[in-house]
Amino acid sequence: MTAASYPVVRCDGDDCGAETSHPQAETVTQVRILRRGEGWRNRPGGRDICPDCWKDDRR
Ligand SMILES: [Zn+2]
Repeated sequence: MTAASYPVVRCDGDDCGAETSHPQAETVTQVRILRRGEGWRNRPGGRDICPDCWKDDRR
């Protein structure tokens, strides 16, 4: 068990499970903002979608 705790955003696309985090993020909200430039999206209702799922229309 690691003592390090950091926010992780997990993709809610079907059968995906991709995760992202960011070294400068202290909250999941900051992860979403920092990763938006890479294509991560946050859908209404709180679903997070990774760039691959977004591109494949698995929203
Ligand atoms: Zn995904």
